[in-house]
Amino acid sequence: MAEAGQKICVDVAICGGGVAGLWLLNRLRQSGYHAILLESDRLGAGQTRYAQGIIHGGTKYALTGKLTGSSEAIVEMPARWRACLEGKGELDLSSVKLMSDHQYLWSTTSLTSRLAGFFASRLMRSRTQALEGEGRPELFRSPQFKGQVYRLDEPVLDTALLIAALAAPCRDFIFATDALRLSPEHPTRIEMSGGRVIEAQRLVLCAGAGNEALLQQLGRTTPAMQRRPLQMVMLRGNGLPTGVYAHCLGANALPRITITSHFDAAGRTVWYIGGQPAEEGVGRSREAQISAVREELTALFPWLDFSACEWDTLHIDRAEPKMADGSRPDDVFVEGREGVLTAWPTKLALAPRLADEVARLLRGVLPSGSADIAAWPHPQMAPLPWQEEEKWH
Ligand SMILES: Cc1cc2nc3c(=O)[nH]c(=O)nc-3n(C[C@H](O)[C@H](O)[C@H](O)COP(=O)(O)OP(=O)(O)OC[C@H]3O[C@@H](n4cnc5c(N)ncnc54)[C@H](O)[C@@H]3O)c2cc1C
Repeated sequence: MAEAGQKICVDVAICGGGVAGLWLLNRLRQSGYHAILLESDRLGAGQTRYAQGIIHGGTKYALTGKLTGSSEAIVEMPARWRACLEGKGELDLSSVKLMSDHQYLWSTTSLTSRLAGFFASRLMRSRTQALEGEGRPELFRSPQFKGQVYRLDEPVLDTALLIAALAAPCRDFIFATDALRLSPEHPTRIEMSGGRVIEAQRLVLCAGAGNEALLQQLGRTTPAMQRRPLQMVMLRGNGLPTGVYAHCLGANALPRITITSHFDAAGRTVWYIGGQPAEEGVGRSREAQISAVREELTALFPWLDFSACEWDTLHIDRAEPKMADGSRPDDVFVEGREGVLTAWPTKLALAPRLADEVARLLRGVLPSGSADIAAWPHPQMAPLPWQEEEKWH
């Protein structure tokens, strides 16, 4: 075992302990690679802990008419994750709490003919089910509710438990790092403080927004990254209905709002609000954003009383490969050059597919059989944002 200040040689070094890096670490170690992971903050501290935890199956793409070509890959994701959650898949995620096995899609009025056609399509008939009367969840049984509700076969999971489950089998191979140094001359050599050095056959950058600075250190301007900023809203209160995982359909077929529910550190229900208001409200002040979302929720659920709720917002950027028109990419991105692979999953749900793609690009790299382990410190786990009391002003 290498002591502090020593050098280790590995097959693959991964930078970044979000869902993408951790999923990949598990897969590579299963395949016999001596792979390690470096995390500069806490595991899950990037986008992963801010995610709503929805294992998308492509409904959003289908709604916008974009479910074509490579984006069809996402259709397989719920089944692939479900197998892991049941302990029968490529990774054992049986310790991860499934917040819900499904979500709801609802409209506030009768559907436009375009949306009615969408739900009648063969693709959606197999994945959604229209709910009536008592078959609807409690939240939509109010006599004041006039729209339509569909059950959607896409699970929602607890991202903190996911990170813990992915880290547990590989704990000895995950290291905390302060500012690590890379150089264009030796792209697969990593230098850390205290004279610690890692020589890798391949380096995989899975650092989310951190990939940009790592690429700069390597003297590279490509692949370029885009940030899509969001201002999410969270509210908590004892009277808030729990177990709500739902998208409201908007006029333009993009979710008018997406609600997931969670618990704060004291066990109170938290609603976490994304979708259109999080994207459109990014430039608003905290107060203006809260007020816009409160108005929207009051319009959508006039039978609920939000007056005793506590509200706050969270700013977080999505980090993705740059698209020419700034739009949202619909598939994983992995590019390899001179021993360095740069990767963005673009969605938590696509982490298994990102690992497939990296494994494919590593086919020429033979597992060395090395077992060089370092006695270096391990990182902590990041809590969910709504469980950190300081995030509530
Ligand atoms: C508000 C929000 C909601 C979302 N909801 C969903 C959803 O419901 N479903 C879904 O499928 N997707 C969702 N996403 C997208 C999803 O969260 C991301 O695609 C996914 O988490 C990205 O994972 P990642 O591992 O690539 O990056 P990250 O989670 O950002 O992890 C990167 C890690 O790298 C570390 N790091 C940074 N720099 C360095 C460095 N120099 N050295 C070492 N480590 C470094 C960071 O600390 C971090 O831990 C959502 C995203 C956001 C922002």
